Amino acid sequence: MMKGKIIGVSLGPGEPELITLKALRALEAADVIYCPATYGADGKEKSRAWDILRQLPVDGTKIRTFYLPMSRKREEALAAYDGVCEEMLRLAEMGSTVAITAEGDAGFYSSANYMYEKLSRAGYPVNLAAGVPAFIAAGASVGLHIVKGRERLVVIPGDVLVEELLEAVVAKRTLVIMKVPLGEAILRPFIVRHPELKYHYFEQVGTPDEYHTTSPEKILSRDFTYFSILVIQPS
Ligand code: SAH
Repeated sequence: MMKGKIIGVSLGPGEPELITLKALRALEAADVIYCPATYGADGKEKSRAWDILRQLPVDGTKIRTFYLPMSRKREEALAAYDGVCEEMLRLAEMGSTVAITAEGDAGFYSSANYMYEKLSRAGYPVNLAAGVPAFIAAGASVGLHIVKGRERLVVIPGDVLVEELLEAVVAKRTLVIMKVPLGEAILRPFIVRHPELKYHYFEQVGTPDEYHTTSPEKILSRDFTYFSILVIQPS
């Protein structure tokens, strides 16, 4: 029997218009679209991917949401991924075209990366349809030129070390910090100690809850949310 294929589809950061034509066409061509979701602390289901998908011209009956436990126990999340991968492989074996959605770009800090590796080992290398990463959309949303000329850019997740931050400052690199809440304990005192640097803090780019500020005081007054990005530029 002819086998199907599995595609990793980037949805962009939140604003439905920021999906690429290629990714949208991949969704249209897919027989089944897998969409990750989690349960928030309030017990409600949450899915950024679903929030974006439902604003796109995509047949809703093709969408299957799968739940990832947000627990810190990685084994639980991996077990959830394993189950979904088996389902996808069964469908692909039957000849279906399966899409796995990811917010932003599917190959940029995407948690689906574990699934891509597993599917690839099972004989289904996942082709990725590129997308706009959130930090690029964040810059554009306020007309920020993230790096110019020969400036250097470092993108890191929030679990930073003070040394890493200081090294970037000394080398005059621009820092893009993802998953900001991971670094609260380091980032808050760093911002207080370094008023000479330029900061751009973004939340929920491309959604109705979008927020941006350059004021260190305002940044410090925020409860950092998962969907936030901090850009630190040399003065
Ligand atoms: N694949 C995504 C990144 C996933 S990692 C991309 O290409 O952008 C999740 C992190 O991405 C979040 O912690 C946050 O730092 C960032 N992020 C994703 N979407 C965002 C949005 N709409 N607004 C602000 N930050 C976002």
